[in-house]
Amino acid sequence: MSSGRADRRGTAASRGYGYRWQLAREDHLRRNPFCGGCSSPARPVLAQVVDHKTPPRLKEAKASGDPERIAAAWRLFWSRDNWQSLCTNCHSSDKQRFEKSGRQPGCGTDGRPLDPRHHWHRPG
Ligand SMILES: [Zn+2]
Repeated sequence: MSSGRADRRGTAASRGYGYRWQLAREDHLRRNPFCGGCSSPARPVLAQVVDHKTPPRLKEAKASGDPERIAAAWRLFWSRDNWQSLCTNCHSSDKQRFEKSGRQPGCGTDGRPLDPRHHWHRPG
């Protein structure tokens, strides 16, 4: 019985990647099981992640403190039109491309990419 504790702070839920996202994500992957980046009928590749085509930039929106910007970021986050199924490989290269443009979508609150296979997490 731990009520009023701060143990929910900094969890995935606070970043929008909570239980609701887990369900929505699984549902999207069921409907779109193949990678939108590299899968083809001849060589199907199963997707493992749901990526936002347009990064919602929730972190930046929250940091700005602008309620309209935050609301817009959430709308982007939950807009299924903005979702795409990707394999981890394509997901990583996608983030890499953004990284080169100086942007950092898909990052946790600690500023590191969410994808554990992201090359940031590998030496060299
Ligand atoms: Zn792929």
